[in-house]
Amino acid sequence: MWKCLKCEREFKNAEQNHFCGKISTIDDYIADQPEEVRPLLQSVRKTIRDTAPEATEKISWQMPTFWQRENIIHFAAFKKHIGVFPRGEAVGVFADRLTHCEW
Ligand SMILES: [Zn+2]
Repeated sequence: MWKCLKCEREFKNAEQNHFCGKISTIDDYIADQPEEVRPLLQSVRKTIRDTAPEATEKISWQMPTFWQRENIIHFAAFKKHIGVFPRGEAVGVFADRLTHCEW
């Protein structure tokens, strides 16, 4: 383990490239993710941005969030996947087009 002396976070790799500070924007969040994941996150962000151009970006629940009168969708990077979390009613509307994987 390697610990950044500035922000005191611990990482698997020494000198891990990361956003060193409090994550308060989606740019900060994406900058803090592994390099290979960043383009995927930017692509998810752009898709949401194009679909909801009036929504405001923020960080909520420690996740990138689009807000329009309320939180409309979150997304986040995990170790081996990217999660997208729309409001519950969207899941109902698109239920027949959503698939989910069982391990
Ligand atoms: Zn740091």
